[in-house]
Amino acid sequence: MTDTTTLEQTAPSATTILDHWVDGATWSGESTRTAPVYNPALGTVQKDVRLASVADVDAAVISAAAAWESWRDASISKRTAVMFAFRELLNERKQELAEILTSEHGKVLSDALGEIARGMEVVEFACGLGHLTKGAYSENVSTGVDVYSLKQPLGVVGIISPFNFPAMVPLWFFSIAIAAGNTVILKPSEKDPTAAIWMASLLKEAGLPDGVLNVVNGDKEAVDALLEHPDVRSISFVGSTPIARYVYETATGHGKRVQALGGAKNHMLILPDADLDLAADAAVNAGFGSAGERCMAISVVLAVDAIADEFVAKVKERMGTLRTGDGTRGTDMGPLITEVHRDKVASYIDVASTDGASVVVDGRGIEVDGDPNGFWLGPTLIDNVPVGSSVYQDEIFGPVLSVVRVDGYEEGLGIINGSRYGNGTAIFTNDGGAARRFQREVHVGMIGINVPIPVPVAYHSFGGWKASLFGDAKAYGPHGFDFFTQEKAVTSRWLDPSHGGLNLGFPQHD
Ligand code: NAD
Repeated sequence: MTDTTTLEQTAPSATTILDHWVDGATWSGESTRTAPVYNPALGTVQKDVRLASVADVDAAVISAAAAWESWRDASISKRTAVMFAFRELLNERKQELAEILTSEHGKVLSDALGEIARGMEVVEFACGLGHLTKGAYSENVSTGVDVYSLKQPLGVVGIISPFNFPAMVPLWFFSIAIAAGNTVILKPSEKDPTAAIWMASLLKEAGLPDGVLNVVNGDKEAVDALLEHPDVRSISFVGSTPIARYVYETATGHGKRVQALGGAKNHMLILPDADLDLAADAAVNAGFGSAGERCMAISVVLAVDAIADEFVAKVKERMGTLRTGDGTRGTDMGPLITEVHRDKVASYIDVASTDGASVVVDGRGIEVDGDPNGFWLGPTLIDNVPVGSSVYQDEIFGPVLSVVRVDGYEEGLGIINGSRYGNGTAIFTNDGGAARRFQREVHVGMIGINVPIPVPVAYHSFGGWKASLFGDAKAYGPHGFDFFTQEKAVTSRWLDPSHGGLNLGFPQHD
């Protein structure tokens, strides 16, 4: 999504360097390349993060492979105990983690705590690993013959995560991977990498053996090394669509199991019978929460003509009450992740005017409660966006909410189904029949009915359709345990004296 190459530099520019976490301890590796980690609310570099070389990734994989030899045999009760202990520690110390998220990502503290809560749900789900890794048993499929299945871990698995959920997305994957008996190499976003290291050290405190969770910081070089490494069995990726597609194609080409979650453009369809106050609140919350840098953000409202003027007025009124600023100051919305990204998002406001849309609220030059050098852009509302405009077509990934006017349900549904993305969508209506039609007819993986951000709970799985997910397995939930295990079917016969003697025919049952 954002341009990683512009962030890279050859020499460290700040005093603190964030190392990798390998074999249960911080580790600097051999690479001397680094990238700056900003505090986006201040616009300053707060530390540098190491960017791993191929040899560094290889060393981490060796550590993970060695740890797997014993972790694969750790009992269900041992693994469950570690997950419970981790959940308790995470809950006790979530404020500390939230402060890290706010300082590197910029999201406001309350939102950071929300991210942690949604990630912690997956840890809680993973505590049920005893049930979730159970196989099945069929007795006497043939006389004296039983068949049963085993779910076994894959081995060393790779996880590559995006900047926008530095705690939650790693938690989606490593909680289940570890619970299922795998060992992990996590490559977090180089823009906000500290949360991953913090969580790895907390897992050690929870009793996780060294080498089971390794964090390798890096950029494309580290990602490619993971995608191509012969001892990495699977890749779980979350990020923008072009990189998700690349990761999927490259890693499957190297024989790996891959789930690659990509970008999004999520629509909210408002029918004339909807509660417009509820819908306006929802659009503002889902459009501008986390400065629009959520893959489940609502970025397009499809407003039916009959209510569109009234709806836009209600949204505009609510936007006037939002405070943008430093996330540690109790504001509603923080900065964007980098200056480059902020400028790119802001450039769509000019495109909107050129393409004939009307800019109802322009977030440029907004007065903020924070340092003037932060990467700010205020909430922006653009009405009458033509679907041919790049404002509609592109994933802007910032606090820019577009309104497209439609004549009714059919036109709205057609626009959503014509989108190349299919991550999330929402319908706002009081008509149960329309909502039911929508859930059947829309080509999207996660649907909200009067709910704007329908992120499924941890015991259902998370994932979109079309260019929002490459691969068959969604994240967490039942899909998560399926993804991180491989099944064996065992056919067994303990001989009794009546065994049947020689028979060269294909096995049949009697
Ligand atoms: P990104 O694609 O730029 O980066 C994601 C990861 O890929 C990072 O770890 C990064 O280091 C790595 N990467 C970047 N460029 C690479 C390259 N050329 N080759 C190999 N690896 C590379 O995404 P981002 O900007 O960090 O995150 C925002 C994007 O993630 C948005 O598109 C958002 O919709 C998407 N996202 C999707 C979901 C989902 O569940 N579908 C969830 C969160 C974020």
